[in-house]
Amino acid sequence: MTKVNQLGYVGITASDRDQWEPYATDVLGHEISPDSDPANLYLRMDNYHHRLVVQPGDRDDAAFIGWEVSGPSAMEEIAARVEAAGTGVKAATPGEAEQRHVIDFVQFVDPNNGIRTEIYYGPEMLFTPAFLPRRPMSGYVTEGVGLGHVVTYVKDADAAARFYQAALGLEVTDWVFVKAVGLKLAFLHCNQRHHSLAFFENPSPPRGIHHVMFEGATIDDVGTGFDLCRDRELVTAQLGRHCNDRTFSFYFRNPGNWHFELGWGSRLIDPDNWQVQYYDGMRARGGEWGHDGIMNVS
Ligand code: FE
Repeated sequence: MTKVNQLGYVGITASDRDQWEPYATDVLGHEISPDSDPANLYLRMDNYHHRLVVQPGDRDDAAFIGWEVSGPSAMEEIAARVEAAGTGVKAATPGEAEQRHVIDFVQFVDPNNGIRTEIYYGPEMLFTPAFLPRRPMSGYVTEGVGLGHVVTYVKDADAAARFYQAALGLEVTDWVFVKAVGLKLAFLHCNQRHHSLAFFENPSPPRGIHHVMFEGATIDDVGTGFDLCRDRELVTAQLGRHCNDRTFSFYFRNPGNWHFELGWGSRLIDPDNWQVQYYDGMRARGGEWGHDGIMNVS
């Protein structure tokens, strides 16, 4: 079955776009693309033209999530499966594709989280000049595994997982259940990254997105990032290690007042030989250790 092969980009609507520029360089170490304009602040973190784009808006949330496929036939196949699942799909205009710096994409509103979802192929690559982090750090892990991961709120995690399996070809890696508080999370993969997408079940979510995770290339990238965020009072969950993807990470606030996670050492899986698993989130507070404050990350 044709599948998406990586989480490609995330669009963000921002009520205060101006705050994002210094934050992107000084905290995330991302480069601001010279192609940015008032409507699109393009942020670069690897050999892709950009991985994040911040657009002015009246609320703070994810505006769209882009999933990469190998080419036009894969894009059309997935579009047909989304339509077969009962969700309307729209082709991008040439102007929209140009704005995304991809050859082409199709779009639909994810019925599970209300976030516009885009299936694209042909991202613009940029090897020269090479990505140069704007804060002292070695860089980000994205090669073959994509931007990182996104976690979105959904009302029904089982339905969301079924939709992504049937339409986009992602597979469930594992579940985390916190039965005492009725919490349920689904983690899905589309490559060796343990999860590129996760669903946080919540009947009355504050927004569509819960957090976006970036993976630093070294443990020091997380450590120096933690210091930066601590000094700016942005930390929302302390350093810790997750039970399922084994990522060493912390969470911090972005200018939209929702969360990013900066991690290191994320587990790779063999997607061709994987069996679904689950974790009891009540053991060790949902993590191997640390992540104090994570229950308040919302
Ligand atoms: Fe995460």
